[in-house]
Amino acid sequence: MTTTPIASNSIRDELINIFGTENVLTQDITPELTHDESLTASHETPLAVVFPTDEEQLVNLIRLAKEKRFSLVPRGSGSGMSGACNAIDQSVVVSFSKMNKILEIDLENHMAIIEPGVTLIQLNEELAKHSLIYPVQPGESSATIGGNAATNAGGMKAVRYGVTRNHILGMHVILENGDKLVTGGKFLKSSTGYDLTQLFIGSEGTLGLFSQLTLKLSIKFKESVTVLSPFKTLKELTEAIPRIINTGVMPSILEYLDFLAIDATTRSAGIDLGIPETIKSSAQAYLLIVLEGNDSNRLEQDLASLGEILDSSGALDIYSLPPTAGTAIVDAREKAFWVAKAMHANDIIDVVVPRSTMANYLDKVGRIAQESGSLIAGCGHVGDGNVHLSVFQSDPNKLHEVMYQILKLGTDLGGAVSGEHGIGTEKLPYFAKLENEVKLRIQRQIKATLDPTNLFNPGHLIP
Ligand SMILES: Cc1cc2nc3c(=O)[nH]c(=O)nc-3n(C[C@H](O)[C@H](O)[C@H](O)COP(=O)(O)OP(=O)(O)OC[C@H]3O[C@@H](n4cnc5c(N)ncnc54)[C@H](O)[C@@H]3O)c2cc1C
Repeated sequence: MTTTPIASNSIRDELINIFGTENVLTQDITPELTHDESLTASHETPLAVVFPTDEEQLVNLIRLAKEKRFSLVPRGSGSGMSGACNAIDQSVVVSFSKMNKILEIDLENHMAIIEPGVTLIQLNEELAKHSLIYPVQPGESSATIGGNAATNAGGMKAVRYGVTRNHILGMHVILENGDKLVTGGKFLKSSTGYDLTQLFIGSEGTLGLFSQLTLKLSIKFKESVTVLSPFKTLKELTEAIPRIINTGVMPSILEYLDFLAIDATTRSAGIDLGIPETIKSSAQAYLLIVLEGNDSNRLEQDLASLGEILDSSGALDIYSLPPTAGTAIVDAREKAFWVAKAMHANDIIDVVVPRSTMANYLDKVGRIAQESGSLIAGCGHVGDGNVHLSVFQSDPNKLHEVMYQILKLGTDLGGAVSGEHGIGTEKLPYFAKLENEVKLRIQRQIKATLDPTNLFNPGHLIP
């Protein structure tokens, strides 16, 4: 499917002046360039999609946008889940896919300086040559680091390493007035006024255009072991989490999948884990744990401690998986979203709650599902209290009410509407109702200060 051009000739000519013909698209804009992976967020046809290659072009684009009164929608790989890069009316999509150079890998400081369009897969392939990793691992490795920064992406390894916010040490941001803001740098600490790097992380393209990022890197471990453990109840499984963390074993991955999610994901990936039928039929959920290290003896000891905790927490069984099966099940878990999408899930949420309230939370979600006649299946980063629920409810009014109830339940327990996917446009109605009024007011004031003409991603994030 293609769309018709709607940029006026003068706008198109000026865009071509700034970016060159090969980096401006005003005709045949494929819909894939105008939205992300969210299941319900709407999107419009933009005036154009541009593919900048340097900072000067971004400054010129901002000048033109203000003069001709169109807005700018930054875009990484479009793998987001909240409609945060979805094009709006009278906008130009700024795709960062051509600003994708790894500018420096600093082996002494363990830092990288990159352009925002560098993808996770691209960066980690380069780092592997130096036995390093960028440890933030959201489930979609085609995502750009600029997109990760703008959503504060998390992923499976957050339980050990933290999220994007813990790994971005500095940025270049092109602001609404054309200034280039340089924040942070190749240092781990600073006590030098407001931390502006942190302000831009999670800003969902609403405050400026990121043009360069400084990243903290980690050492790649040589050994790993993957453990899968079925539990009879979600309560027992979630109660095992603080006990595992208290041992000091430090899993790199600590995920849960309920029985519907594990069945669907392993089936879709063609994996047979050989779990006996008697266990399968009584397991309500599974814990997926990855331990990593450089010392195989130490890893053996950690595995033994983990086994004791799982056993005494009521695990039905404990499987230490061979490397290929371990990788396969982690990959299958990462693809859970595609499976839910193929099964026509009506919406997805990624609510985050305090880890200790997970059992209570999931129990109450089960009741909401039952009372509303919805199917709600889940998996998630249980080590961080971050739950990914696929909601199957085809009646749009009921769906909205169920979503509101599940999200409200999370915020009532001291959690937040989104743990890592962001607000975008999709979660905006819930965010507007459930977020603290003072925080919303300050967010609006920050937006008005940094983007007084509402140039960047209007209608996203800020109610
Ligand atoms: C199968 C699957 C699994 C996933 N698993 C996870 C997961 O485990 N954890 C997780 O956190 N996320 C996950 N995601 C969501 C997604 O990968 C992340 O939100 C990711 O950070 C989006 O990156 P992107 O490059 O695709 O950004 P996009 O979706 O293109 O954009 C996201 C936001 O970034 C802004 N943006 C992009 N580039 C810039 C820039 N240079 N300057 C300013 N703003 C910019 C956009 O305007 C938008 O607001 C998953 C997605 C899929 C499809």
